[in-house]
Amino acid sequence: MTSFTPAARVARIKPSPSVAAAARAKELRAAGADLVDMTVGEPDFDTPDAVKEVGIAAIRDGDTKYTPVNGTPALRKAIRARMLDRAGVSYGDDQISVGGGAKQVIFLALMASVDDEAEVIIPAPYWVSYPDMVLANEGLPVIVECPESAGFKLTPEALESAITTKTRWLILNAPSNPTGAAYSEAELAALAAVLDRHPHVWILTDEIYDEIWFEAGRVPSIVKVAPHLADRTFVVNGVSKSYAMTGWRIGYGVGPAPLVGAINKLQSQMSSCPASMSQAAAAAAMAGDQSFIAETVAVYKQRRDIAVAAINKIDGLSCATPSGAFYLYPNCAGVIGKTTPEGTRIENDLDFVLYLLDRGVAAIHGAAYGLSPHFRISTATSTDLVEEACRRIAAAVAALH
Ligand code: PMP
Repeated sequence: MTSFTPAARVARIKPSPSVAAAARAKELRAAGADLVDMTVGEPDFDTPDAVKEVGIAAIRDGDTKYTPVNGTPALRKAIRARMLDRAGVSYGDDQISVGGGAKQVIFLALMASVDDEAEVIIPAPYWVSYPDMVLANEGLPVIVECPESAGFKLTPEALESAITTKTRWLILNAPSNPTGAAYSEAELAALAAVLDRHPHVWILTDEIYDEIWFEAGRVPSIVKVAPHLADRTFVVNGVSKSYAMTGWRIGYGVGPAPLVGAINKLQSQMSSCPASMSQAAAAAAMAGDQSFIAETVAVYKQRRDIAVAAINKIDGLSCATPSGAFYLYPNCAGVIGKTTPEGTRIENDLDFVLYLLDRGVAAIHGAAYGLSPHFRISTATSTDLVEEACRRIAAAVAALH
């Protein structure tokens, strides 16, 4: 039998740890385990009915064919309107790319721009996919640890010292997965001042969680704070999180026409376009009634408050309060070195989440996000389950000695 050898780009990367953890939790539950799954990275809400109806009508009306590579006119119009409203920037049709989720758009942006070990600065903790996407595209991830004492945020000094002549991109993600942290306008202005001195560095700002925001006003964005960087800033967003549309697979990116042209050239050879009916539904979600967002954000905020308070009551754990998104990234330094009732010593955050799994809670270890000792729990599950998970975590930690 002929054996299969994957290409070097595949050998360099690993499968997404959050997808793997969520799959493992699902498997255990299917096998009958009493498990509260806190790994999920998608809203527990259903796609709004009005949006579903638009998708169904699109199918019925024959809107079932290839679309332009850069999306249907309706979707582009919705993206343009949203960017004008949020960032005050007017993007042309040649500055818009659409893809099968923000994930595909980010991958294509890197594929279009990174090769020959170009460096990509990734502040840690990071969304698990960034380093592997960079590696898959022949780039070099440059991980900059942003400790909890710095609010899990990149400082201008840390940025300055990470930049080299080979730096291609800085990736920003706010509100962040996994911490929910976001930069203030002043912090973004300070980062922009560093970037002013290094005109070869481009900025990829992943704003997929921007609607899930618990503070006053809107989450600050570097496009708005530093419009003079627009000619090297690529903004990524999508409908997955804001409108509970993860399975529809629509994301988008806006930025300089030469970059977007390169992305769209790749897209034309990769998938031609995302699904036409999904584009119709996404356009309707973005252009239609926005009350779904306020309703769901109020629920996420309530769950955040419950979980942060509950975790901060546990001796050995502490949890910073996220400003947005639907994750918590508690610090578990206080349990490292302790021993489980079964006699296993907890050496690191992976040992801790494996112990939690035995105690009926599925979470993801901080090492997967590049900053230990932490673990990530998602509050995109029912409020009752959030409470139950916190009770189980408290009991598990209390049983350590
Ligand atoms: N960016 C971040 C930070 C995410 O957490 C996710 C989803 N987990 C994505 C991008 C991709 O979202 P999608 O492909 O569903 O649009």
